[in-house]
Amino acid sequence: MTNKISAGSTAGNITAESIGHEFERRYGAGASVYTAPGRVNLIGEHTDYNMGFVLPAAVDKGIMVAIRPAAGPLSRIYSVDYDSEITLDLHGGESGSTKSGSTKSGDVPNDQWAKYIYGVAQEMATRGRSVGAVDAVFGGNVPLGAGMSSSAALESAFGFAFNEMFGLGFTLAELAVIGQMTEHNWVGVRCGIMDQFISLHGRAGQVLKLDCRTLEFEYKPFSPAEHGYRLVLVDSMVKHNLSGGEYNERREQCEEGVRIVAAHHPEVQSLRDVSPEMLERYRGEMPELVYRRCRYVVEEIARLVDGCDDLDAGRYEEFGARMFETHRGLSQLFNVSTPELDFIVDLARSTEGVAGARLMGGGFGGCVLHLIRCSVADAYLADVQAKFGAEFGLVPRIIEVVISDGARRLV
Ligand code: ADP
Ligand code: MG
Repeated sequence: MTNKISAGSTAGNITAESIGHEFERRYGAGASVYTAPGRVNLIGEHTDYNMGFVLPAAVDKGIMVAIRPAAGPLSRIYSVDYDSEITLDLHGGESGSTKSGSTKSGDVPNDQWAKYIYGVAQEMATRGRSVGAVDAVFGGNVPLGAGMSSSAALESAFGFAFNEMFGLGFTLAELAVIGQMTEHNWVGVRCGIMDQFISLHGRAGQVLKLDCRTLEFEYKPFSPAEHGYRLVLVDSMVKHNLSGGEYNERREQCEEGVRIVAAHHPEVQSLRDVSPEMLERYRGEMPELVYRRCRYVVEEIARLVDGCDDLDAGRYEEFGARMFETHRGLSQLFNVSTPELDFIVDLARSTEGVAGARLMGGGFGGCVLHLIRCSVADAYLADVQAKFGAEFGLVPRIIEVVISDGARRLV
C-alpha cells in the first residue's frame, strides 16, 4: 500500500469531477458523487462530556465519494489517497453483531480506512436496515492531524450515500449516531457525537449550537468574510503524547467536582447544572486542581452562551475576545495547552487586528483557531510563521477555512 497521506500532510486536491473521472476509469459510468465535510469548533472545549454546549461549523474541506450500486454480493472500494483497493462483503459476519470481536475473523478489513466504511454498514445492519453492494472511489482534502475530524467526514460521506442510495430512511441525527458508534465499535475510539453531527447538519454561513445533554440544536449566523474577517488555523506542529491519560484525568476531576456540589444539591448531575456561584460556595471542600478544572468548564459553558448572543448581533470583536478567554482558561485553569500553542496565542493577542485565537480540540497539540481582520491577516500569518520558526525550528502549517454545507449529493 502506498501511503500517500500521513499526519502533517494535506491530502490531495479532490473535486467532484476528479473523483468522478477516477470512478469512470476503474468501474465505468453511472456513479453519483457525495461529500461530507470536516469541521472546526469555535468555542466549547471539554464541555461535551460535562453536558454543556459545543459550537462547531462544517468547513470547505471533506471527503468525496463516487458511488454506484453493484450487482454481486461484493463491494469494490478504492481509496485515492492511499492508492489502495479492497473487495469486501459489506454484510460482514453474523448479522446483528456490533463488536468487532463478535464478528467472524476475515470479515473486518485490515486497512484502517476501510474499517470506517465497513463499520458504518454494520451499524446500519444492527439497526435493521441493510446496505447493498457498491462500487466506490473516494478521496479527501481534510488536512490530517489538524483536529478537523477527517474520520467523521469519512463516516458521514458513506453513511449519507448509503442512506440515500438504498432508501434506508435514517435521519441525519441517526446517521450521526451510526458514525459515532462506528468509531466506538469498529475503530476503537470512544468519541463524542459532535464531529459526526456537524458533518451531517452543517450549513454555509452558520454555526451549530449543540446541546450535548439533549442533542437539541440551533443554528447561529457566522459569516466572517462578510464582516471583514478570515477564519484561519495555524498548526502548532507538535502533538504531545500524554493526551489519553491527561484527558481521562480531566474527566475524573470534573466528576469529582460534581460529586462535591451534588452532596449539597442532589439535582446536580453534571457541571452543566453548576453555576459559578455554587462552585465558589463549595470551593473550600475541593482540592484546588478540581476547583480550577470545574471553574474552566462552568465559565466555558457560560462563555459559549454569551458568544452566541454576540453572533446574533454580529459582534465579531466581542466574540473573538471570548476565544482568547477560552484559551486562557484552557491554558491556566484546565492546563491542556503547550508552549507552542501559547506562543502562537500570545503573538495573536499582541497583534492589532487579530480578534481572537485559541487552541482547538482537547489540547496538548494541534491547531490554534484564529479570527483575523482581513486587513492584517497576511502580515500576521507571515509573522507567526517566521517567529514560530525561529523559536521552535518548524514552520507552522496555515489552513484557511470557509464555513460550508454538511453532507450532500453533488452529482
Ligand atoms: P481526525 O482527527 O482527522 O478524525 P482520525 O485519526 O480520527 O483523525 O482519523 C484519521 C483516519 O481516517 C485515517 O487514518 C484514515 O484511516 C481515515 N481517513 C481520513 N481521511 C482519509 C482519506 N482522505 N482517505 C482515506 N482514509 C481517510
Ligand atoms: Mg477522528
